[in-house]
Amino acid sequence: MKGIVFIEKNPATGDLRNVSKELTYKLYTLLQPYKGEVIGIFAGDELPKDINELFKLGLNRLIYYKNDRLKNLQSFAYKNILTSMIKSEEPDIVLFGATHTGRDIAPLVSSALHTGLTADCTQLYIDEYKDKGNILFQRRPAFGGNILATIITPDERPMMASVREGVMQIPEKKLDNPVKLEEFKIDFNENWIKNEFLSIVEKESKVHFNSSDIIVAGGAGVGSVDNFGLIKKLAWALKGEYGASRAAVDFGFAEKERQIGQTGHVVRPKLYIACGISGAVQHRAGMEESQKIIAINKDPDAPIFGIAHMGIVGDINETIPILLKYLKEEK
Ligand SMILES: Cc1cc2nc3c(=O)[nH]c(=O)nc-3n(C[C@H](O)[C@H](O)[C@H](O)COP(=O)(O)OP(=O)(O)OC[C@H]3O[C@@H](n4cnc5c(N)ncnc54)[C@H](O)[C@@H]3O)c2cc1C
Repeated sequence: MKGIVFIEKNPATGDLRNVSKELTYKLYTLLQPYKGEVIGIFAGDELPKDINELFKLGLNRLIYYKNDRLKNLQSFAYKNILTSMIKSEEPDIVLFGATHTGRDIAPLVSSALHTGLTADCTQLYIDEYKDKGNILFQRRPAFGGNILATIITPDERPMMASVREGVMQIPEKKLDNPVKLEEFKIDFNENWIKNEFLSIVEKESKVHFNSSDIIVAGGAGVGSVDNFGLIKKLAWALKGEYGASRAAVDFGFAEKERQIGQTGHVVRPKLYIACGISGAVQHRAGMEESQKIIAINKDPDAPIFGIAHMGIVGDINETIPILLKYLKEEK
């Protein structure tokens, strides 16, 4: 079996996007039992600075195409180049990060290849299916997140899926595959450039979920913007980051970029403290892989207690000040 990962660079830092590392390792674990090959494909002006990291995560080869005209996203050009790269390799599986770029290009590529694409998968595995042999099973929430659908592409190749950043994990222990970079040759056509960039404004995010071991998240139960100050205080006291449920975002308690869940961020901190959050399936989709979950909720039957390792039944307005006092004394 052969698999391809679309490799992306973070234009702000020039480094690999985390999702490219996560998917490289995921593909490696999927293909390892079949002694399959893991190939990265990249197109852009310059290779990511830390490209060699991918070989420590199971990459066997990187096929790249460099052109200054690809400094910024040019969907049509990317579609043509990536489609040619994929056709030249005839892989069984192709994975894209469900980033802005991935969401733009993956459907164009899948349609050019006449194959299926399952977006925003939360689980990927290989298993036998009827007389089709081993195929990729792609799981994702469907119908508003109320069911988990398992989607397959039994007849077409490659089987394509996209996955959001943070859903798959990177191991601590690294591999030592030799670095193998292969330049791809293609007759670049200027007509492929369809977008003109007049100015690009990089929005700097203040949210650092990826690098935070502790996340304190508030939900609708927090009650008001003022009360949400308690969530922030607890997060800061623990040197962590604060997040919110969609209901809390909708009520204006926190910014949209802090939303955790199916349509927000997927987080996996060492400790997740859910305050006044009921634990709807769409919220759980973004946090249930956290190493330890503590829930604070005044309703003892709140579903969040079903996945919490520890729970406090109580009003956050009383509980959080006690925790803050305790943390201050501990210091
Ligand atoms: C397609 C789709 C995508 C979605 N994506 C997301 C997503 O990405 N993220 C997300 O979070 N949701 C998402 N949702 C919404 C989700 O279904 C829930 O509506 C939402 O998660 C509820 O947020 P909540 O738990 O904060 O609010 P509620 O469900 O209203 O729960 C509030 C909780 O606070 C408790 N409470 C009230 N007062 C207090 C108090 N003083 N002290 C302690 N506890 C208190 C209550 O007992 C209750 O359990 C999505 C929904 C759909 C249909």
